[in-house]
Amino acid sequence: MKRIAALIAIVVGALLLVLGLIFLIAAIANPQRLLNALALAVLGVPLIAFGIWVLVREKQLSADTLDDSIVELARRSNAEVTVDQVVAELGVPDQAARDALDLLERRQQARGEWREDRKVYLFPGLKESKVVRRCAHCHSIFSVAQPLHKCPNCGSTEVELVRE
Ligand SMILES: [Zn+2]
Repeated sequence: MKRIAALIAIVVGALLLVLGLIFLIAAIANPQRLLNALALAVLGVPLIAFGIWVLVREKQLSADTLDDSIVELARRSNAEVTVDQVVAELGVPDQAARDALDLLERRQQARGEWREDRKVYLFPGLKESKVVRRCAHCHSIFSVAQPLHKCPNCGSTEVELVRE
């Protein structure tokens, strides 16, 4: 709808400019026409500028453009984002944020999950798999930073490296 209004504004603005040009040509014979030409240009130029601005803004807010920024945001915030976070950090309207997140969900890049009353979007592809030491016996998890040959918890020697 906004898009149609923007296109109409551009077309009307262009028509006014064309009319202005005709008056400009007519001004050669009749200098009074120069004012009409100016008036038409003054009306036409802002209409075209407004129309273009609306179209550019719409493109920026389209789910197809926003999705990359959201993935980037998720990368910085531990592979999960909320609608509020997208709205706040990317400065976009609520609906644009929801549409883009829906698109990411449909493409299975994100997965919505309800936590109490808010929906969190998880990005499994962004989660780095961490390598940890795990005791095969009691399944305790230890950092890989320190060498470990015996589980401090149960004493088992079967401590293995696994991806979390
Ligand atoms: Zn153990």
